[in-house]
Amino acid sequence: MQNPEISGIEYQRGELFGFEVKEYLLQKWNRKCAYCGVENVPFEIEHILARSKGGSNRVSNLCLSCHSCNQAKGNKSIEEFLKKKPLLLKRVLAQASSPLKDAAAVNTTRWELYRRLQSTDLPVEIGSGGRTKFNRQTRGIEKQHWTDATCVGDSTPE
Ligand SMILES: [Zn+2]
Repeated sequence: MQNPEISGIEYQRGELFGFEVKEYLLQKWNRKCAYCGVENVPFEIEHILARSKGGSNRVSNLCLSCHSCNQAKGNKSIEEFLKKKPLLLKRVLAQASSPLKDAAAVNTTRWELYRRLQSTDLPVEIGSGGRTKFNRQTRGIEKQHWTDATCVGDSTPE
C-alpha cells in the first residue's frame, strides 16, 4: 500500500464498503468531529467539497463530522464555513490530504481482506505481531524482515 489514498479507496467504486470507509475515517480523524472536536457522538461522513459542487467520494475529500456541524456547514465551502477559524481551516485541509499511515490503513481493511482470501479456497493463515515475535524468539531466530515472514502463524515449523 504505497499510497492508500490514490490506490482507489472510493466507496462508490466498491473498493471498500461504507463501513470500511467509516472505520478508515474514524482512525484518520481520531474519532473526533473535524470541525468542533466533539468525541463519542454518532459521526457522519462529511464531504469537504460538497457533492453538489463537484466534490468526490475520495477519502481525501471526506472527514468525520458531528450532526450539528454537518448541518451547519451544509453546502457551504469549507473556506466559507471556517472563515472565522483560519487555523482550523488549515488543519482540516492538511489532515484531509494526508493519508493514514500504512499500518493504520491495513488495520481498517484486514478482516475484509481475510474474508475475501478465505473465499478463494487457497490455504490462508493469519497471525499477529505477538505470535510472530513468540515464534521467532522461541526458535532463537534473529529479527529481520524476512525471518519475521517465516515466523507468522500456526504453520511455523519448530
Ligand atoms: Zn462538530
